[in-house]
Amino acid sequence: MQKIFSHENRLIVFNTMNLLQARGVACELRNEFAGSGVGDLAPFETWPEVWVDEADLERASEILSDLDQAAQGEWRCTACGAENAGNYRMCWQCSALIDDPEAPPSSA
Ligand SMILES: [Zn+2]
Repeated sequence: MQKIFSHENRLIVFNTMNLLQARGVACELRNEFAGSGVGDLAPFETWPEVWVDEADLERASEILSDLDQAAQGEWRCTACGAENAGNYRMCWQCSALIDDPEAPPSSA
């Protein structure tokens, strides 16, 4: 296993792990509870970490760099409330299509 991502904010770590898993990359969360009862550890050593298999490392890196580039234009799914990157038209969590305010109203 290799560490692919770490952040002081657990929610961001969870979100990153969810995004990877939604794209078929198996992830493991480590250090989840290390932040409580910190002793002499350096702060960054207490951040939760996302680990992936070596075999998935390259794909996971590509996904994360795509996410960085797509950080602008995020949209929130109206069906499930999940945050989605701007370059995706479909919700990663529930597969609902984006509600595009510029699209003409459906006549169905
Ligand atoms: Zn959704």
